[in-house]
Amino acid sequence: MAAIAAARYGAAVLLVERYGFLGGNATAGAVAQFNSWQTAGGRRVVAGLADEVVARLTQLGAAGAHQTFVMSTGHKMDRVEYAPETLKLVLDDMVIDAGVQPLLHATLLDVSCAGRQIEAVRVLTKGGIVSVRPRVLIDATGDIDALKRAGARFLELEDGEELQPATMMFRFGPIDFGRFDAVPPDEMAALARQGFEQGQLARAALHCARDPFSADAWFNISRLAVDATDPMALGRAEIEGRRQAWRAASYLKASVPGCAQGQLRAFGTQVGVRETRRIEGDHVLTAQELLAPAQFEDAIAAGAYPIDIHAARGGGLHYQSLGDDHAYQIPYRSLIPTAFDNALAVGRGVSATHAALAAIRVMTISMAVGQAAGTAAALATRRRPGSNDDGPADVRAVPIAALRRQLESDGACLR
Ligand SMILES: Cc1cc2nc3c(=O)[nH]c(=O)nc-3n(C[C@H](O)[C@H](O)[C@H](O)COP(=O)(O)OP(=O)(O)OC[C@H]3O[C@@H](n4cnc5c(N)ncnc54)[C@H](O)[C@@H]3O)c2cc1C
Repeated sequence: MAAIAAARYGAAVLLVERYGFLGGNATAGAVAQFNSWQTAGGRRVVAGLADEVVARLTQLGAAGAHQTFVMSTGHKMDRVEYAPETLKLVLDDMVIDAGVQPLLHATLLDVSCAGRQIEAVRVLTKGGIVSVRPRVLIDATGDIDALKRAGARFLELEDGEELQPATMMFRFGPIDFGRFDAVPPDEMAALARQGFEQGQLARAALHCARDPFSADAWFNISRLAVDATDPMALGRAEIEGRRQAWRAASYLKASVPGCAQGQLRAFGTQVGVRETRRIEGDHVLTAQELLAPAQFEDAIAAGAYPIDIHAARGGGLHYQSLGDDHAYQIPYRSLIPTAFDNALAVGRGVSATHAALAAIRVMTISMAVGQAAGTAAALATRRRPGSNDDGPADVRAVPIAALRRQLESDGACLR
């Protein structure tokens, strides 16, 4: 979303991606549902480019309608299920239509800096090393790899906190949804507990998102305690994730109504990662600020997803629901790394405490934050008439009122 927004405002954008397709957890991780578009009471808090993604998916028959979904905790939220494979196509179209230059199959190599400026980013491609001199670097790698290589500072976990676990999503079907949906919620919860107690499920849940094209669903029921920035541990998690998924699929088939004819048909391309590095930004967003909710003069996105912390070990979930009309804001300063002038961090790497990130990490809010970052980068790099300046820009010089006006006129919600 950051690349698309920046390109639509005339910035020359190179989008670097290690896979041959875009989307991250939304495609490679096969998460398959965009959660929490509105408050529990029904007030919209995420729109803009995220809406356009859903509209394009819907046109291709690849997204369900907005639906109210009641969590096992009783919290009501609005979600859209979608087909991750078709999302790849939608994102291709959106970046190409916007004039973004995609550089796929390109992995970050290193970053060179001069003081507070990112000077060059080198990426490894099939054709060798490509060096880019960005005026603004937007780090949307989830793990904030580029700013890590640049030497930025990161927030630490506090005592008693652990990284949220990763999950290997898997596709299972066909499911007889007539029978599956007829299971009362308390019985489904009992089946999930039984699977967990028997060691077949790594978390006591049978949570899934349906594929719009078939009688299959993507299941989110594995759980892997891993620091996904540790390469050896990440590889072990991929392997353990597939094993957990296989065991879970066997349990579905044997014990869950409607699943007897199903097979495990696909794993996510990669294990889905909820949390790794969080940048130290000009503002560190806290859970208290989400719960208050605090009002920020530089709010660039809003959200209503509750604080949702999956325990790294065991099957537990800490889930703090919000009130009926409760929405919170995300300030622009939480995107700005303290150590640099021409960089922004987005997605699950923004400057937030562990607990605050547990709310704002979802894809709806990540898309809204991405749109804001791209718009800000375009404003930061806009040349004054007659100027040929192609050096690093200053993201702190972005006029906040103009940024917010632009976002609102592009359909974004800021409160
Ligand atoms: C199992 C699971 C279930 C979830 N459930 C939901 C849900 O139901 N609804 C919801 O809205 N959200 C959900 N989330 C949260 C959400 O999916 C993520 O927080 C969100 O996708 C984060 O987006 P991101 O763009 O910051 O990072 P990512 O999705 O991780 O994307 C990072 C991108 O950068 C690329 N990249 C990374 N490193 C490099 C590198 N070194 N060089 C080049 N490219 C690189 C990756 O390939 C990827 O395309 C879930 C997450 C997980 C893991």
